[in-house]
Amino acid sequence: MEQRAIAFIGAGNMARSIIAGLTASGYAPDKITATAPSSARREPLARDYGIHTTDNNLQAASEADVVVLAVKPQLMEEVCKPLQILDFSGKLVISIAAGISASRLNEMLATNLNLVRVMPNTPSLIGKGMSGLFASEGLNSRDKTFAENLMQAVGKACWVEQESDINGIIAAAGSAPAYFFLFMEAMQAEAIKQGFSPETARELVQQSALGAAEMVVANPDIELSTLREQVTSKGGTTAEAIRTFNEHQLSDTVAKAMRAAVTRAEEME
Ligand code: NAD
Repeated sequence: MEQRAIAFIGAGNMARSIIAGLTASGYAPDKITATAPSSARREPLARDYGIHTTDNNLQAASEADVVVLAVKPQLMEEVCKPLQILDFSGKLVISIAAGISASRLNEMLATNLNLVRVMPNTPSLIGKGMSGLFASEGLNSRDKTFAENLMQAVGKACWVEQESDINGIIAAAGSAPAYFFLFMEAMQAEAIKQGFSPETARELVQQSALGAAEMVVANPDIELSTLREQVTSKGGTTAEAIRTFNEHQLSDTVAKAMRAAVTRAEEME
């Protein structure tokens, strides 16, 4: 990956994960600066990854080629205002804040940014993330590649053509870990009712989820429905469970839940 001076404005959990991924893959730590008001946040980053840290957002952003906005969405306006005096024309700005549009970011920084909006998800915190990326109009391929590589440091990345498609990314990936947690919770609860201890019930469920996900990944040419059919013998136990899911319209419920997530994302814009 190309080595450019990066400033992470906001050194929280997401920034830390990206920094961990970057440095593990050989990115030079002295090209990375992270900012946070509290030294309790900054010191572990400097110690663990050998990067620069500061509480001075303006200086960090002014010295960087790439500015990653990684504060909570509600703080973004307050954090961006003092940065308006900088010349962003030669800089790439990457925002990982949920729900803040490209046009809002342009307003907040009072210029037309070379911008990539990223929607990561929580498994990024363990390097297994799925991020959706949207590039502002006319962004050059060097900047696009850089942003993609940055998010590949914590998982997989895919581009969307329209900014509104970020809401589809929220429904299919951003919120998705919670869907699987809910499914696993329900399975664990029933396994406990059937007599297993909570620990055993959890292990049965999590290992099955992991195994199923890894089978999907290991067989990219096999349709999901085929994988399901391969483990569902006619008249058997799995068939009976699947029949019950279908009777209660599981697929329909999933579709409705994903549409509800999109609608909520649109309302929050
Ligand atoms: P976090 O609360 O862990 O980190 C935010 C950091 O910003 C904190 O460390 C804080 O010290 C720092 N900060 C606060 N005020 C600041 C200021 N004035 N200047 C500089 N830094 C300041 O949050 P997070 O989970 O890392 O999330 C960061 C962004 O990522 C958010 O915008 C969130 O929407 C987005 N995001 C996170 C996740 C996730 O799974 N954690 C998923 C999708 C999107």
